[in-house]
Amino acid sequence: MTAVESVQQRAYAARWARRAAPGARSQAPSADRRLVVVSNRVSAPRGGRTGSEGGLAVGIRAALEEKGGVWFGWSGKTIERDPGGPSIFESGPVTYATVDLSKRDYEEYYNGFANRSLWPLFHYRLDLADFNRRYLAGYQRVNSLFAHRLVPLLKDDDLLWIHDYHLIPMAEHLRGMGCEQAMGFFLHIPWPAIEVLLALPNHRALVKSLCAYNLIGFQTENYRRAFLAYLSRELGAQIEPDGTVLAFGRRIRTGTYPISIDTADLAEAAAENAESRQIRRLQASIRERELIIGVDRLDYSKGLLVRVQAYEHLLRAYPANRGRVVMLQIAPPSRIDVPEYGQIRREMEAACGALNAAYSEFDWTPIRYLNKGFGRRMLAGFYRTAAVGLVTPLRDGMNLVAKEYVASQDPENPGVLVLSRFAGAAEELDGALIVNPYDLEGVAEAIQTALAMPLDERRARFHGMFERLQTYDIHAWWADYLSDLGA
Ligand code: UDP
Repeated sequence: MTAVESVQQRAYAARWARRAAPGARSQAPSADRRLVVVSNRVSAPRGGRTGSEGGLAVGIRAALEEKGGVWFGWSGKTIERDPGGPSIFESGPVTYATVDLSKRDYEEYYNGFANRSLWPLFHYRLDLADFNRRYLAGYQRVNSLFAHRLVPLLKDDDLLWIHDYHLIPMAEHLRGMGCEQAMGFFLHIPWPAIEVLLALPNHRALVKSLCAYNLIGFQTENYRRAFLAYLSRELGAQIEPDGTVLAFGRRIRTGTYPISIDTADLAEAAAENAESRQIRRLQASIRERELIIGVDRLDYSKGLLVRVQAYEHLLRAYPANRGRVVMLQIAPPSRIDVPEYGQIRREMEAACGALNAAYSEFDWTPIRYLNKGFGRRMLAGFYRTAAVGLVTPLRDGMNLVAKEYVASQDPENPGVLVLSRFAGAAEELDGALIVNPYDLEGVAEAIQTALAMPLDERRARFHGMFERLQTYDIHAWWADYLSDLGA
């Protein structure tokens, strides 16, 4: 373990200990204040916890269903004219408030600055980033629109929790309108190293707007440190030992809150689903072969192409695997209006087609590539069937699939997780085989090690990780964040 890793482990251990203290949650000063969550997309009440909504939506829903409150954001609809006031409806303890976006806003704010400027930059893909000013203007316009539509709904002692890179400047807009409520921000994606961030033309203004929050949460210690390094080096900000920052005349707290999953719910779903008709069909189709599974949105940050190449290397370097393993890669399309996503789709189709053409036998196909999504309950059954979970993003804020794979395993006969060191989850899941996804031979070797791993070792690795996921699950994540925000 490196010095940095041991500091991170200690930070997590301290957080877990605090969380486990009797009464820790009920004493949170935030307990009686209304929670107002803002995220780019509001996920409608249907769908449920084991549906196919993303990790952010699952986390927010878990908090709101338990605490009650307001969920504000984009409805997911685009309209021709300028958007009006929010549509409001209630479901259980949650008030949903959604606004539509004009086609131009959707194009410039969502497809533009969020997904063609910030997303590639924060995932170290400067070669794909487009920083045009029209996008930036759209980003600011929608953040201002959200602030104007939200303000009439706010009460003085609300706790505001604003999520992700789409909405970095929102607190600054709200402060400009006189809002003094406690406001927290949580970044679901990586915070990039300083030299990467400097490529963003408006980096200083963006960071300044982030400093309008009271608490900024990151997925890992590495991201938080990268943020602090920028503040101290570029702005000469003063940083206190506990991570509090003095910048732009404000005092901002920072913290690390690795997002998690509903561990108990998923483990139960996986066990229940193990006997389902679909899982039996999957098992019958792979027969006695070992299953290697990958599940990722079709995104260039997920390392899908190098993963296919690493798998090909496995078949070349360890030919005994031919006819004996099957890879199932599930990759639902995402952000289909952004051109780079069409590109990765074509490249993956070509790579999987070429691999199958080169290696298939009349009774065996090495890779099954599915360009569609599945519900989380079904995925849990898939994960449990797979001897190897292959999670090899080139850069990923956390990666919940890695955690879901672990939670879904049969404790008596668990599979092995092969995990990229560039996923935030690698800071927690120390029982995985940690790989460098750019090192094709190294990844192939790790898959081979996983396939050959004795049961005792598989169990030992699984138990450590599962225990961690049980302690720091999605409920611990939000309770921990909100307790800090309300403090
Ligand atoms: N997911 C799903 N169905 C699919 C593929 C993915 O429900 O077909 C879920 C997956 O279970 C996980 C989330 O989508 O909870 C993806 O989160 P992750 O952090 O792995 O990646 P992201 O897509 O947020 O970058």
